[in-house]
Amino acid sequence: MVVVMRPEATAEDVDAVVARVESAGGSAFISRGVQRTIVGLVGDIAAFQSLNLRTMPGVGEVVRVSKPYKLVSREHHPEATTVQVAGVPIGPDTFTLIAGPCAVETPEQTLAAALMAKGAGATLLRGGAYKPRTSPYAFQGLGEKGLRILAEVREETGLPVVTEVVDAADVPLVAEWADMLQVGTRNMQNFALLQAVGSAGKPVMLKRGMTATYEEWLMAAEYIAQRGNLDIVLCERGVRTFETATRNTLDIAAVPMVHSLSHLPVVVDPSHSGGKRDLVVPLSRAAIAAGADAIIVDVHPDPQAALCDGPQALFGEDLTELAKACVDLPPLVGRRLVS
Ligand code: PEP
Ligand code: MN
Repeated sequence: MVVVMRPEATAEDVDAVVARVESAGGSAFISRGVQRTIVGLVGDIAAFQSLNLRTMPGVGEVVRVSKPYKLVSREHHPEATTVQVAGVPIGPDTFTLIAGPCAVETPEQTLAAALMAKGAGATLLRGGAYKPRTSPYAFQGLGEKGLRILAEVREETGLPVVTEVVDAADVPLVAEWADMLQVGTRNMQNFALLQAVGSAGKPVMLKRGMTATYEEWLMAAEYIAQRGNLDIVLCERGVRTFETATRNTLDIAAVPMVHSLSHLPVVVDPSHSGGKRDLVVPLSRAAIAAGADAIIVDVHPDPQAALCDGPQALFGEDLTELAKACVDLPPLVGRRLVS
């Protein structure tokens, strides 16, 4: 933290700032310029924040230099993290394909989607048992029954499961069945849920809130990390903009930008961002080229009959194209597809 004194500040004003900082256990380093004096603070930022330095005589500005998040920041942890999901890595040297149905509907549909995912090279299965829907009249997911179906399909296919939890009260149950817990865009700032998944002992995929800045997203991740869980992957899933042709606008810059701010892996969801089948493969290619550690893609054996997000689900030729992109492109950016 840095305190910038006003040009008219007196030596007594500067001394008073130093004394207040030292009374909070910090140290102050004074740099006297021609126009103004700057006081650099070293110590506990949280303690400095309660000192009300901004209101002291002669003080112009108090500027924070370090990031407000710590455990998830690059600053504090320069090396990129690899998160292991039941033995499947998501990290800097590899590229991981996560795929599956938007929602678990029936055992048959879930198994068929999982086999499609596996055939395309996926090593993790996605599928929602608890669905956060905009409309209360829309299919809300099968709940615990859906978790059991996912577990059966994991048995049959060997694919570990990523599934969403929408309520803090459900975390112990979902953690019992899932290999990775997903926090969705609508819950990115549900702090009770973040703390609950932080204590659940399972890796977490934290989707970006649809209007969240990178800093807000990383502060949300910090809630999880603060509970002792650093197995977090961040998922860019598109943000709300003025454009209506796509469901959301994929913020591709989030991949390199968040990699520079945080050591955590960054995943891209080309399905929920584009919202249209035709966009999924091009957006997936863009994500790989931008350096995504993984992508998470909706697939469905019969998209027309899907109870949730059919228009964005891949099948047939598009899935073949996706599989090809996942093999061909990662080596161009120094990665290999996890198989
Ligand atoms: C999902 O992945 O099923 C989902 C609901 O995504 P989002 O939270 O990004 O809308
Ligand atoms: Mn969906």
